Amino acid sequence: MNGEPPISCNLDCDINTCGSLCCRNCPVLTQDEVEKLISGVREEYGLELIQKRYFRRAKGEHGTYFAAKMIKGQCIFLDKEKRCRIYRCRPLLCRLYPVTDADFVDVRCPLVSGNKISGQVLDALRQRYAGEVDKRIRMEHTFRFED
Ligand code: SF4
Ligand code: SF4
Repeated sequence: MNGEPPISCNLDCDINTCGSLCCRNCPVLTQDEVEKLISGVREEYGLELIQKRYFRRAKGEHGTYFAAKMIKGQCIFLDKEKRCRIYRCRPLLCRLYPVTDADFVDVRCPLVSGNKISGQVLDALRQRYAGEVDKRIRMEHTFRFED
């Protein structure tokens, strides 16, 4: 949807190596982000996502958010080929992967372990994490998921 480099579920990723590892954790979103995603998917893909069917509540210490539902340990938006069905509209946390915190990079991702992503790009993603991820979500340590 914008000019950023595609990272998570990159169509060029060799997912036979990682099995789309990045999509085995559900991204957490604010209500605003869920609404934006739903309208984005409507525009981009012509699909009508029913919030309750695709997202569950995620309660933290600082607020209540939403998370993409998981099916058999994988994000509900992953297709049979293990590619994201809503890639162009994917949540911010997916866009920032393999950065999963302002000071944490998931080294299990082959883009990182295989040095396919530069330190410069990782720094830029870290900065975006610190500046763009909802402040309350950044402060949370754990979430309690509800159906
Ligand atoms: S884990 Fe890394 S290499 Fe695998 S699909 Fe996700 S971003 Fe690509
Ligand atoms: S929304 Fe897409 S990119 Fe994000 S975890 Fe789900 S399948 Fe992966």
